[in-house]
Amino acid sequence: MKRILANDGITKGGQEALEAAGFEVITENVPQEELNEALKNYDAVLVRSATMVRKETIDACPNIRLIGRGGVGMDNIDVDYAKSKGVEVINTPAASSASVGELVFAHLFSMARFLQDSNRNMPLTGDSDFKGLKKKYSAGTELRGKTLGIIGFGRIGQASAKIALGVGMKVLATDPYISDATIDIEIEGADTVSVKINTIDFDSVLKNSDFITVHVPGGESPLLNKKEIEMMKDRVGLVNAARGGVINEVDLVDALQSGKVAYAALDVYENEPTPAVQLLMNENISLTPHIGAATLEAQDRIGQELAEKIITFFEGQN
Ligand code: NAD
Repeated sequence: MKRILANDGITKGGQEALEAAGFEVITENVPQEELNEALKNYDAVLVRSATMVRKETIDACPNIRLIGRGGVGMDNIDVDYAKSKGVEVINTPAASSASVGELVFAHLFSMARFLQDSNRNMPLTGDSDFKGLKKKYSAGTELRGKTLGIIGFGRIGQASAKIALGVGMKVLATDPYISDATIDIEIEGADTVSVKINTIDFDSVLKNSDFITVHVPGGESPLLNKKEIEMMKDRVGLVNAARGGVINEVDLVDALQSGKVAYAALDVYENEPTPAVQLLMNENISLTPHIGAATLEAQDRIGQELAEKIITFFEGQN
């Protein structure tokens, strides 16, 4: 029987799927310094972000055939080294896309009605200046009929498009590697509606969108700087739930100050876990502390996705 150590835990559904397939799953947490010894008795190790699987561990435990990361980022695993030793390394990039897409829309709906600021001010002056606040937030906008620009049309970009179409928005998307995608919208009580979206060039998305959300991998330098922001519509709304710094934070604050950008939403920051105070204090920024993937449903899918990949891998080994 193959033995798996889920050192940072695994969801009940994932554990059950593995056990049903004949694996023994141990969820006890082994401290980092005892890992090299403990793993000698296992065929696979599963981690989240807490446990590190470094070169020393991979060398000390040649019996380990697979390292699984529940989630996306693999900074805590020496992935290339593991692969060079023939160890399979897997993660679960698809499990959280819908959750991130919903967070994007939580921010978009909030910004369009100034909830980020209203939630800050109602506890302070909601009783003494109700009418003043009512006036302050009286020029909200609807999302319906507006155009959402999506930069990066991979998993999360497409998950966001699905919600946008459901809300009645127009969608413009750009991606150097994806020319089109068919978005299936499941509507309770009706047939699934499929919408094909052809991606267009980057500049056209910048110029023609009322709201823009970025879903690209993090790069060396920001994708959206002063130059790109200047190409956008006046009073655009921006969302970054991708990686800190994809939108240049200094240029964003300037553009909010000038009114070029009406509002912005950030789930990720250049300086995590100490984001710049200029962002935190800005009344026109809707803020969350990197919680895009943090839903119970995504956690459950992470467990299921891991289990499926592990089962497939070990089946292929027999
Ligand atoms: P993905 O790989 O499925 O999609 C990314 C897409 O971006 C790809 O299709 C790629 O071709 C495209 N792309 C690359 N460079 C581009 C460019 N210059 N312009 C336009 N498109 C470009 O990735 P995903 O799963 O959709 O994740 C997207 C981002 O979301 C990643 O940065 C990921 O780290 C981040 N993420 C954030 C959270 C969160 O908690 N906020 C959770 C999961 C993922």
